[in-house]
Amino acid sequence: MALITVSNLSIGYDSREILKDLDFQIHMGDYLCIVGENGSGKTTLMKTFLGLKDPIDGQILFGDGLHPNEIGYLPQQTLIQSDFPASVKEIVLSGCLGHSKNRIFYTKEERLLADKNIKKMGISHLKNQSFSTLSGGQKQRVLLARALCATKKIILLDEPVAGLDPRVTSDMYKLIHDLNKQGITIIMISHDVGCALKYASHILHIGENTFFGTKKEYLQSNVGRIFLAEQEEYARNA
Ligand code: ADP
Repeated sequence: MALITVSNLSIGYDSREILKDLDFQIHMGDYLCIVGENGSGKTTLMKTFLGLKDPIDGQILFGDGLHPNEIGYLPQQTLIQSDFPASVKEIVLSGCLGHSKNRIFYTKEERLLADKNIKKMGISHLKNQSFSTLSGGQKQRVLLARALCATKKIILLDEPVAGLDPRVTSDMYKLIHDLNKQGITIIMISHDVGCALKYASHILHIGENTFFGTKKEYLQSNVGRIFLAEQEEYARNA
């Protein structure tokens, strides 16, 4: 069974439809990149996945034992308060909150899990440091460790490399690729089609024309070919 089945989905704000008739499935271990023009509805789709917005029509079904509160989420940098007055350890631990019902204390297991994910992201030396003092790349590692506390199965990332320099961007992509190799399903919004084509197994292109399929199918599709040509043209003129 698929991890996520999207059927006949229409999304938007109030009754204004942004996207309609979306149909696709995501399986355990997939690496899905969501691409498309600015304003096409990528973030709105992510919010609908997370249950922060109701669909206008259609449904999102979770299968393969996935519970909606087992989704790790790494929001856009712009949505993160970078002067948030908390330590790295506290931010990572807060990823466990989705599992605890009205508890204010963390269990020993949750503390061990946070430690394990801090180590996995290579940020043990920053554990007691204030989040606000970190670089952009370090902050993203902290937020990935936090997302890993929420899930062992699937992580949603919204533009995870926005504002990072090329070396840190490349490290971040490798880290995400490693998580995927360890079996974690990845759904990532990306402006960077080059990266999408390097690492993704599947592409969802949303906009005037919508496409869902494997990376190979995308490269052979009209939607994919036109979008890639536009992106290359844009990069040449930038
Ligand atoms: P993307 O992530 O692809 O850039 P968004 O999902 O952010 O696109 O936005 C899709 C459309 O929804 C845009 O036209 C945007 O103006 C509109 N939109 C985004 N957030 C809201 C909101 N909170 N209320 C009403 N419209 C919104």
